[in-house]
Amino acid sequence: MSAVPFLDLHAGYLALKPEIDAAVARVLDSGWYILGPEVVSFEASFAAYCKAGECIGVANGLDALILSLRALGIGAGDEIIVPSNTFIATWLAVSAVGAIPVPVEPSPSTYNIDPDRIKQAITLSTKAIIAVHLYGQPADLDPIIETAKEHGLAVIEDAAQAHGAAYKGTRIGAHSDAVCWSFYPGKNLGAMGDGGAVTTSRADVAERVRILRNYGSREKYVNEVQGMNSRLDPLQAAVLTVKLEHQDDWTSRRREIASNYIDGLDGVTVPFVPDWADPVWHLFVIRHAQRNRLMTRLAEEGISTMIHYPVPPHLQQAYSRSGYTAGSFPLAESFASDMLSLPIGPHMTQNQQTRVIDAVNRYAKEP
Ligand SMILES: *Cc1c(COP(=O)(O)O)cnc(C)c1O
Repeated sequence: MSAVPFLDLHAGYLALKPEIDAAVARVLDSGWYILGPEVVSFEASFAAYCKAGECIGVANGLDALILSLRALGIGAGDEIIVPSNTFIATWLAVSAVGAIPVPVEPSPSTYNIDPDRIKQAITLSTKAIIAVHLYGQPADLDPIIETAKEHGLAVIEDAAQAHGAAYKGTRIGAHSDAVCWSFYPGKNLGAMGDGGAVTTSRADVAERVRILRNYGSREKYVNEVQGMNSRLDPLQAAVLTVKLEHQDDWTSRRREIASNYIDGLDGVTVPFVPDWADPVWHLFVIRHAQRNRLMTRLAEEGISTMIHYPVPPHLQQAYSRSGYTAGSFPLAESFASDMLSLPIGPHMTQNQQTRVIDAVNRYAKEP
């Protein structure tokens, strides 16, 4: 039997090959290889898609977070509230500007940062909260933004997994001070290489990010601040412009697959979707007490699964000096021990999905 890949990126290219090839050729023929009209045009399309005032294309998702933190004036010694359960990039961005990530545990039902636990983590040094829309499921933004207002904090969203998701009926893209995107190939809107963006409806933040991504300069050789080189590549912008046209179709396909999983799976914990959330299913994460055994069994049937994430940031060697140990964040740790991501993507076939559901149901109930 043929293998079921975790995500078929090549199929995503083949589905749009003529359009993508033409877009790449257009950039090559234009003679314009840094920023320029392709980037401006994608920025306008993505801002409109996100219902945000502005979009600034940057080099990758990590830089989108770093640039947003810098644009909001965050730096050495500031404390930034981050989820204990997230991809490590969220934490690394905070550390990169000299600030300190202060982890807060997730809600056990949604897996996203628990708004009720944020207050206890706020100190006089706290400057911002980063909410992550993990696995493509929006975080509960209203209470987070309310707490931030009470304490005079900024809010940043890490939307690297949430292209097209909606919170209380409004697309993710401009609820908070700055929304950070990644176009890494495996994301829901993925380029053919690295890419990222910041969207916001705050003109001052947009202007700051725009200057910071290009050597701190508005005008060539006039450097107002110590910026970075973090520009979205026009080749990637051209590819993303093509893919964005198909984003809603591809999201619908992910939603169908997720709903088949929720209806068809038995003997595992499936994701809970609050009534205010329209997730985009970047990942479909189940929980099972015998996760490692289930993963091995599925692999024996040619079904690729992954763990997001096997080691939470606070237990990574990179954060060994923070003083956290096993037991510091029990919810993040328990997720790491029992979560398993099943194959999902716009090009997964019905037949492949039936095989995954049958196999999971067969093995999940083994004694
Ligand atoms: C992918 C990802 C990032 C980083 O994006 P890159 O483009 O790889 O730098 C940040 N946060 C989350 C939650 C991600 O999934």
